[in-house]
Amino acid sequence: MVERDRLRTLSARVGSDPLLVQAAGGNTSLKDAGVMWIKASGTWLKDAASRDIFVPLDHAAILAALERGDPACESCTAFVRTDLNGTGLRPSIETTVHALMPQRVVVHVHCVNTIAWAIRADGEQRLAERLGGFDWAFIPYARPGLPLAAAIQSRMRRGVNVLVLGNHGLAVAADTVEDAEALLGKVVAAVTRPVRTASRIDRAALDKLSAGTAYKPAAMDETHALATDPLALKRGEHAVFYPDHVVFLGVGVATSSDGNPPLVAVPGVGVLIREDAKPAIEPMGRCLADVMRRIEESDPLVALTDADVDRLVNWDAEKYRQSLEV
Ligand SMILES: [Zn+2]
Repeated sequence: MVERDRLRTLSARVGSDPLLVQAAGGNTSLKDAGVMWIKASGTWLKDAASRDIFVPLDHAAILAALERGDPACESCTAFVRTDLNGTGLRPSIETTVHALMPQRVVVHVHCVNTIAWAIRADGEQRLAERLGGFDWAFIPYARPGLPLAAAIQSRMRRGVNVLVLGNHGLAVAADTVEDAEALLGKVVAAVTRPVRTASRIDRAALDKLSAGTAYKPAAMDETHALATDPLALKRGEHAVFYPDHVVFLGVGVATSSDGNPPLVAVPGVGVLIREDAKPAIEPMGRCLADVMRRIEESDPLVALTDADVDRLVNWDAEKYRQSLEV
């Protein structure tokens, strides 16, 4: 199998694991003969094996632009190798993360276990206890695009092949697809946290609650933990801990259908999803539940600030990604 096909297989596998990737989040890339192939913005990694979701970019041109802080790095569309681009899609909004890691293969995931550490005030120190055997760096939170690129550049060292992105996720890199997958497995094993059991769901009660409304019960049992876990709503109802949450669900979690939110967590009962909600909505709700089931009462969590949220929702490249969600 040629290398790009092996990347597609790995991407589909990683993209199908809800503890690593949710909806259109996460991305993979391969650098080959000066071309960096990266997942297209708005596409789902789990589809990588069944359709072409990779966009070719001029890697050296991106690095040169990053050196001069060129605003073109916000979307990286100017660096697409149009002569090779069969899809016509735009590159991932996280292209700069991949460009700055020198290794040939980069896998970036919104790993639930990593996020459960990366949203803590003491995240860097606590991760250092677990990642001591890795060449890793902690990158304090910055909005993807140029700000995140600058944050990575200021902490990047030769040999680093694992990045933990504060209030965001994980990136691993290696020179082969196989080595990248192996490294991902080792890092995830090192950061895996105990998970609180989710309460049993009273499906009959949820059916009754949603009957005759524009809502239906969430499909996955894990999503309902958003409403039944003792800490999920307590910590997450009014806060945003990582970018994709606010992009898809807004600030916090709705607990009533006032205003027709796409997802409603009915405290103590379960989660309802609006019938016409985008497919990303339930995976995003489940992600917060999965993260919070790995949090303890005393954990010192740090949410994104109002300014962070504004910068995310008003970023043009993010608006484009949203426009692709149907
Ligand atoms: Zn990300």
